[in-house]
Amino acid sequence: MRQREGSASAWTARWPHAPSDPARFPDPMRRPGRPGTRTFVVSSMATSDRAALLDRKDLRRLLYGMIESQSSPSPDLDAVLVPAPADLELDALAREASESEVDPDAAPDPARIPSAPPSFFGLLPEEVESALTGAGWQRYRARQVLEWVYGKRTRDPGSMSNLGKAQREQLTGIVDLALPRIHRQIQSPKGDSVKYALELKDKVRVESVAMLSRRGVTLCVSTQAGCGMACVFCATGTLGLARNLKADEIVAQVVHMLETTGWEDPGYNIVFMGMGEPLANYAQTLKAIRVLNADEGLRVGARRITLSTCGMVPQMHRLAKEGLQLGLAISLHATTDELRNRLVPINRRFPLRELVRAADFYAETTGRRVTLEYILLAGVNDRKGDAERLADIANSLPCKINLIPYNPVPQLPWQRPTDEGIQRFADWLFPRCPAVTLRWSQGGEIAAACGQLGAKA
Ligand code: SAH
Repeated sequence: MRQREGSASAWTARWPHAPSDPARFPDPMRRPGRPGTRTFVVSSMATSDRAALLDRKDLRRLLYGMIESQSSPSPDLDAVLVPAPADLELDALAREASESEVDPDAAPDPARIPSAPPSFFGLLPEEVESALTGAGWQRYRARQVLEWVYGKRTRDPGSMSNLGKAQREQLTGIVDLALPRIHRQIQSPKGDSVKYALELKDKVRVESVAMLSRRGVTLCVSTQAGCGMACVFCATGTLGLARNLKADEIVAQVVHMLETTGWEDPGYNIVFMGMGEPLANYAQTLKAIRVLNADEGLRVGARRITLSTCGMVPQMHRLAKEGLQLGLAISLHATTDELRNRLVPINRRFPLRELVRAADFYAETTGRRVTLEYILLAGVNDRKGDAERLADIANSLPCKINLIPYNPVPQLPWQRPTDEGIQRFADWLFPRCPAVTLRWSQGGEIAAACGQLGAKA
């Protein structure tokens, strides 16, 4: 991680249109490489004009090739630094890491570092058990600790009265029970939304939002710091991707909100609609979901969890086959490829036809209707023809439509239609498709509504 400036400019030199201020675009790929291996930086996306997506198929081929031969990190990362065999042919997607990025001091052989204890919140119950038994504890102790943390919401080992004194002292040396620090917490005037900016260990910040409505509590979590998808209307999309979150950093957001809001709703919902594209951080997002879902964890039923995607088609297929009954929401926002290419750049890679097919596959495989999210942008996608095409799409698969009046983002030119305009659009849809809901986002006053995360409140 040394020579930040140096490698940021190497990056800039490679992608001539990269943002001129490197601090605004922390290079997600800079990870220390291991001495003795060649390390390559690979990106799936030119971050430059925030539109030019590189060919993911090529990227994947490249990554899988590296990974197969090296058993390196997860292929789900959008951008990884991969130790690769010396004879690997690189194409334009990758460049060899500069020396400053391969820092032998920063990356000793993992087997030799006295490692910090893993975060409790990234562990499945069976992994908590192996961590504890590995430290010489008896197996049943895992259940006790899980019950304290997730059942009774107690993270202080001192209060875990059924553990022995020595165990209370040892516990945090085996698993880390700390939650990220709250950098900032803002409550809406009505008190029904709270936005948190949490600071992670490497000082990266992520936002989460807790919302209370007649339907109960909804916790909105982030899966990435920033986002690389570059949807042109979204505040987070303007930030670029800082990095993927780890499973524990995702679960910790939920635990945090349960602790700090004090809102009691045993049937609360979790939506992966905060910062980032969950399916671009597939493995860690799924791990977090399994931790949240576990019987000895928070027991959040998969049906109470909804994941929203901008349309990562291969991952949608994969998700359908996970055997989970997760809700899937798809950020459709446009009904022609021409418009969607402009609004949601990943459409250039996975056009509408493929997206709709993947959505249909998801619904068929899981037996759950998908949600088509459609933000209303004044003068852009709110005409009668748009409503008619949207109805046609909606009638071609098991789905419901969620209309979201656009939440304005400072510095971005897009506008929300008038209330009459919104109602008119809904009225065009209603007779054509039965399941339409209008989502008046909560949290607009504190820049915590959909698509406003990362914007200043
Ligand atoms: N990356 C995921 C999650 C993003 S946030 C996705 O794209 O689905 C959840 C929803 O908020 C998405 O549908 C997103 O397109 C929408 N959104 C983004 N910016 C918005 C804004 N300013 N107003 C309203 N909705 C917005």
